[in-house]
Amino acid sequence: MKANKAIIQVLPSKTPPPSVAPLVHELLSRLGEDPSRDGLLRTPERVEKALRFLTGGYHMDLDRIVNNALFEVQYDEMVIVKDIEFFSLCEHHLLPFFGKVHVAYIPRQKVIGLSKIPRVVDMFARRLQIQERLTQEIARTLWEALEPLGVGVVCEARHFCMMMRGVEKQHSGAVTSAMLGAFRSQKETRDEFLSLVGHTSMGG
Ligand SMILES: [Zn+2]
Repeated sequence: MKANKAIIQVLPSKTPPPSVAPLVHELLSRLGEDPSRDGLLRTPERVEKALRFLTGGYHMDLDRIVNNALFEVQYDEMVIVKDIEFFSLCEHHLLPFFGKVHVAYIPRQKVIGLSKIPRVVDMFARRLQIQERLTQEIARTLWEALEPLGVGVVCEARHFCMMMRGVEKQHSGAVTSAMLGAFRSQKETRDEFLSLVGHTSMGG
């Protein structure tokens, strides 16, 4: 505990929220490591920086991402953005899960700048998540912002908590989907989307 207090004094707290670096220092030592050895000296600060980045989605402002990028158009064909890479942290183990998100929507009157969709994905991926909720939050957010005829989101991910711990290796890849509006009510629409992103057999 003494070492822990010393570290609290040494590390400057520049950001308003309390520093997590001392907790990482304590974590290292409780795991049987020597936090004062060369390679670990700055690890608590690095881990804090990484965690702040990886959970930065809590502080992203959806209005700022979306509102300046909405355009009125007469276009009612499916818009698809495929293979959006994402990296997230599973809320059960704080280990990464990562993969690709495919997003589609059918505009009613509004479209969104295509580059904004990956930013919406990041906003929800950079939090503590489960894959199912991540998928739904992306879909629901676009549904509310665009008021489209439909939104479909498919997420394919691999989970370190399953891969690294040696459990269920054969199931370490998971696919989740969220279908709203026409993507939910019309099988042809859903199937068109799923086949375009390579998931012909999903949804039923
Ligand atoms: Zn997990």
